[in-house]
Amino acid sequence: MPFYEYRCDACGHEFEAMQKMSDAPLKECPECGEPKLVKLISASGFRLKGGGWYETDFKSGKKKNLADSGKGGSSSGGCGGGKCGCG
Ligand SMILES: [Zn+2]
Repeated sequence: MPFYEYRCDACGHEFEAMQKMSDAPLKECPECGEPKLVKLISASGFRLKGGGWYETDFKSGKKKNLADSGKGGSSSGGCGGGKCGCG
């Protein structure tokens, strides 16, 4: 299960929450109770935690992104479907 980092905009409290991907993001700060939580997205933070599957997940997400945007596909040599090991 992935960790998400949150920071409270009201009191500055920072914490990590373990949530399913499908869970809605948290809103209320556990410290002050204000609905001011901001989700922090930092790839470096994920790296620090060093979970093996984070990297896999990140890579697949990136590939998806490229395919969606259609950019950078000029040199399409058949690498679109992940059949070759160039990724
Ligand atoms: Zn707070």
